Amino acid sequence: MIDVLIVGGGGAGLRAAIAVAETAPELSVAVVSKVYPMRSHTVSAEGGAAGVIGAGDTLDEHCYDTISGGDWLCDQDAVEAFVAEAPRELIQLEHWGCPWSRERDGRVAVRPFGGMKRERTWYAADKTGFHLLHTLFQTTLKYDGIQRYDEWFVTRLIVDDGRVHGVVAVDIRTGRIETIAARTVILTTGGCGRVFPFTTNAAIKTGDGMALAYRAGAALKDMEFVQYHPTGLPFTGILITEAARAEGGWLINKDGYRYLQDYDLGKPTPTPKLRSMELGPRDRLSQAFVHEQQRGRTVETPYGPVVYLDLRHLGENKIDARIPFVRELCRSYQNLDPATDLIPVRPVVHYMMGGVHTDPDGATPIAGLYAAGETACVSINGANRLGSNSLPEILVFGRRAGTAAAAFAREHRQAEPPAVRSQGEDERRQLERAREGNPDGERIADLREEMQRTLEGAAGIYRTGAELAKAADTLAELRERADAARVDDTSATFNTELINLLELHTMLDVARTIVACALNRRESRGAHQRTDFATRDDAEFLAHSLVHRAPDGAPSVGLLPVTITRWPPGERVYGRD
Ligand SMILES: Cc1cc2nc3c(=O)[nH]c(=O)nc-3n(C[C@H](O)[C@H](O)[C@H](O)COP(=O)(O)OP(=O)(O)OC[C@H]3O[C@@H](n4cnc5c(N)ncnc54)[C@H](O)[C@@H]3O)c2cc1C
Repeated sequence: MIDVLIVGGGGAGLRAAIAVAETAPELSVAVVSKVYPMRSHTVSAEGGAAGVIGAGDTLDEHCYDTISGGDWLCDQDAVEAFVAEAPRELIQLEHWGCPWSRERDGRVAVRPFGGMKRERTWYAADKTGFHLLHTLFQTTLKYDGIQRYDEWFVTRLIVDDGRVHGVVAVDIRTGRIETIAARTVILTTGGCGRVFPFTTNAAIKTGDGMALAYRAGAALKDMEFVQYHPTGLPFTGILITEAARAEGGWLINKDGYRYLQDYDLGKPTPTPKLRSMELGPRDRLSQAFVHEQQRGRTVETPYGPVVYLDLRHLGENKIDARIPFVRELCRSYQNLDPATDLIPVRPVVHYMMGGVHTDPDGATPIAGLYAAGETACVSINGANRLGSNSLPEILVFGRRAGTAAAAFAREHRQAEPPAVRSQGEDERRQLERAREGNPDGERIADLREEMQRTLEGAAGIYRTGAELAKAADTLAELRERADAARVDDTSATFNTELINLLELHTMLDVARTIVACALNRRESRGAHQRTDFATRDDAEFLAHSLVHRAPDGAPSVGLLPVTITRWPPGERVYGRD
């Protein structure tokens, strides 16, 4: 029996594995990942990782920016722990070999980032995620105790009597179905941006860990908070990092006008804030785009309306030194050069603030089950995550979850209960049945597209109760239709159609929770904007949404108070004015 089984080989999963290997070398650790670890989405992070180091910056200021950026929905005890530990984690990465960009005098360089009043975002050019993940991956290789199951897809958590006992997984290469018994399981499966049609997220980000926990009886938290990033390339959804604006880029409308000066970084306002307006929080910038569109000041393209990101005034040298990947992406995917051309951009689904409900050590209410990284909701991101807080989050809470799971596994050395075998057999039967194929059902791709369109229509940047209620019905019906989806591939080897089917099921479960939570929250806060309830309502909704799966499979939503330590709710303020 494995002591600590980690589902996910991205930044959070690998950081957790190292924490177990370092704090409890006698324990066995396994990392199961549906892709080779270096292909996890962490690799594509560009802009950087926040952590207080600079002179004049303080931990309290990072806390405040995070809390006000999150529209007061963050748990402040978790934010305080996060902010205190983030710099230590970034220094630790340096010691493991992460090549942080430097100032001329040799100090670690930091750049400004959206919603952060100080420059505290560490970076490795604009390929931060690649270097961070590589550093973690090579560090895991030092430890013989870390076993890997690369390209294995976890389909079920084994839970009995309120305690986790392992997982069932399919080896994608051979089709072998195996039950892996474990004393503890840590979910680090990343986000679920793929439930929307237009996203920066890799194809693998289908919310599997959220659905696994939800089906096993755990709660998901704050699922209505979906982050749109204001600058995705039209058509592909490829991200143009916020670092481009941190380095001085402007957002302009079809008249060449820096339109953000007309907004209080959200709604139109008569009091312009000129300085650093491009570095407002992502929710506000994405909302401003919608207003520009309504005013007829965006540019129509075959791929929807766009505005422009203007980097021309930065000059070739700065672009090549600070944001070379932006230039590479624009050349390869948009056939333009940002040194001389405007970049068309539009808001794109980027990040999930919500996830598996955990405490600050990653523990869920199911004994032995932990979650960390984007799949979890601790919550430090509240109603809107600030850019560059997620990479340190996966490090801080990956380490915490790993350490806590190791301690639990040491103390609870139970024998394998009969449920491991019976639930494993049950899951095997279901998977084998799915693999027998079904020539009659609807196509997986058609069902997926309908789900994505439904979510974009009802749970996008602006929402209404009526649209959400209709979407909830559509998704419930789609969930049933997906059970009978058409599967033509009956082979065992690399049966990607079966994987697509399993992912469609997880996405639909997650999508239903997003819509149910959004419908229940009758206020506007951060990334959740209801035109029928246009203001923040602290009296009723200064609370997390907690959603459980009811016995009939439908989501059931309740509320949980937010932890406030030192920062009572106030107005959000932005920029460095
Ligand atoms: C394009 C882009 C740029 C970004 N830039 C930044 C940035 O500059 N700064 C910042 O702070 N944040 C950034 N983010 C956000 C940040 O990168 C992510 O939130 C973070 O890396 C998530 O890490 P993770 O370890 O939680 O998950 P991931 O890195 O997504 O890893 C998930 C892992 O789970 C595995 N998995 C999933 N499902 C299963 C299953 N069923 N069975 C087995 N394994 C499974 C996958 O194989 C993978 O290994 C960016 C995000 C994107 C999309």
